[in-house]
Amino acid sequence: MVTWAKELAEVHAKHVLTPWAVQKRASGPMIVRGEGSFLYDSEGNRYLDLSAGLVAVNLGHGKEQVVQAIQQQAARLCYASPVFFHDQRALLAQGLSQCAPWSEGARVFFTTGGAEANEDAIKMARMITGRQKILSLYRSFHGSTLGAGTLTGEYRRFAGEPGIPGVVHFWGPYLYRSPFFSANEGEESERALRHLELVLLHEDPSRVAAILLEPVVGSNGVLVPPAGYLSGVRELCRRHGILLILDEVMTGFGRLGATFGADRFEVVPDMITFAKGVTSAYVPLGGVLVREGLAATFDEQPLWCGHTYSGHPLAMAAGLGALAAYRDEGLFERAGRIEEWLQRGLRELAKQSPLVGDVRGLGAFFGIELVRSRQTREPLSLWHKPLSQEMGWLQQQLLGRGVYAFCKHNVILVAPPLTITEEELQGGLEQLGETLRRLWEEPSF
Ligand code: PLP
Repeated sequence: MVTWAKELAEVHAKHVLTPWAVQKRASGPMIVRGEGSFLYDSEGNRYLDLSAGLVAVNLGHGKEQVVQAIQQQAARLCYASPVFFHDQRALLAQGLSQCAPWSEGARVFFTTGGAEANEDAIKMARMITGRQKILSLYRSFHGSTLGAGTLTGEYRRFAGEPGIPGVVHFWGPYLYRSPFFSANEGEESERALRHLELVLLHEDPSRVAAILLEPVVGSNGVLVPPAGYLSGVRELCRRHGILLILDEVMTGFGRLGATFGADRFEVVPDMITFAKGVTSAYVPLGGVLVREGLAATFDEQPLWCGHTYSGHPLAMAAGLGALAAYRDEGLFERAGRIEEWLQRGLRELAKQSPLVGDVRGLGAFFGIELVRSRQTREPLSLWHKPLSQEMGWLQQQLLGRGVYAFCKHNVILVAPPLTITEEELQGGLEQLGETLRRLWEEPSF
């Protein structure tokens, strides 16, 4: 068994180009199975999936209802050209439209993932408004294709530079490291909105097609906007005829304790882009939810968007299975309970470890920001550099203790499957606490 795994690891290293990695350093356990909150490797080790993969496996691993839906569809029809109508596509689009926040109704354009969804959303915004510019945030991630990479506001966009024309970045609220020198949430919200207003003024709002942002910034640090910020952005968009696109690739499908972040923040966008949780990541799927009034634009003019896999039958079946599972188990709301457990557990962790500078989050979506000193707030890893030695060490130690957690910059993302039990979560947080204690005491750093 062990020899087999070793041989396969060599084959992997020799033939696979691993995403976002210096290839000669790419390594990791060989995952062969998943069940509930846990992954298992080829040597029988178990890992608690504390970040639900890349904040995606909202239903936990191996949910029977979804697996069966995929299997049944695979036996019936694996693929037909997207020019055909298709029963599962009709039903999933209807189900998703019913989840959307618009009383006027909605339509869905399906893609294969989140980056493509954002690409298509900005193309639609340009076609609908006849304007070219798109505004998005610094410290954001919207995908790694050329266009979505340009929307992205951190270093992962650099490889694609100069990117696509017409994208302008602005600063969003982040009270712990306020770009606006604010002392409290009210100030941060007000100043961030004033800044956006100025950016709009200097870009000429009549040239701006859309503002695209994550309701809670995800992989760039789990940044929860202060009260009034998102509604303020909505109001600026309304005033200037700009479309508001919420990138809910991470925040959708129950992550924040509501179907979408739009519901949790009571903000009504014009489009929502989604992926990940829509199938609990079992089959690649993304898409754009468009409010009916805008979707109707394409009744008379062509929709210049299309993909071979748009509305792929296996992805549609997975999405329908996932929607049924979310509903049957009340999982869109369950993150509310997980939020209580996380608030309690992470507050305790922060008390124990001087490395914890800030803990923030909502629902089942929390970030632990690590610093070298609480006084200086010097980050444990710099935003524009690959993970520091310490953060890499921390991730490896956690794996050794049977916990997988997604770390970005100096932040650990705690975003477990929405099915996690309190006991499983508690076990994961204990290992996290122990690892932070060892990191603090580690003489080599
Ligand atoms: N948007 C957000 C907010 C994301 O977090 C991600 C991926 O993590 C994407 C878009 C890109 O999605 P995908 O990796 O499916 O292309």
